[in-house]
Order: sequence, then C-alpha cells, then structure tokens
Amino acid sequence: MVLLFAPIIFGIVAYLAWRNREVRGCRWRADSTRDKGTLRMYRCAACGAEAFTASKGPPQTCKKGLGGAPL
Ligand SMILES: [Zn+2]
Repeated sequence: MVLLFAPIIFGIVAYLAWRNREVRGCRWRADSTRDKGTLRMYRCAACGAEAFTASKGPPQTCKKGLGGAPL
C-alpha cells in the first residue's frame, strides 16, 4: 500500500522543492553590457527575470511575478 502513495508523496515533495527553489533560489547575475546609465542590469539565472537596480548589489526580491510572462 505504501507503493500506492509513493508517487503522490514524491510529487508533493518535488512540487514544494520546486516552489522553494523558485522563491529562494534567485541567482542574480550582473549584466554590465545592458546597464542603463546609473542603473545596473541584473538577470536571474534561476527564473530568467530581469531587473534594474540603482543601489549596490542585486535586487532583494525576485521580479518574476511582475513580468507577467508564464513559464
Ligand atoms: Zn528569480
């Protein structure tokens, strides 16, 4: 009977891990070739979101939800 639920449990764990990765796994990479003046261009290697920052360092949050582009 355990084998019956194994795929379901695995699916839930995989889904949670995927969500976790999406939220916490944002890896911003600076792209100096696309800087606009004082704004620094950053691209998230995890979800592909792009953002500009005027402050030092990468964006604090993922901008994936703002783009409106579905996966
Ligand atoms: Zn991201």
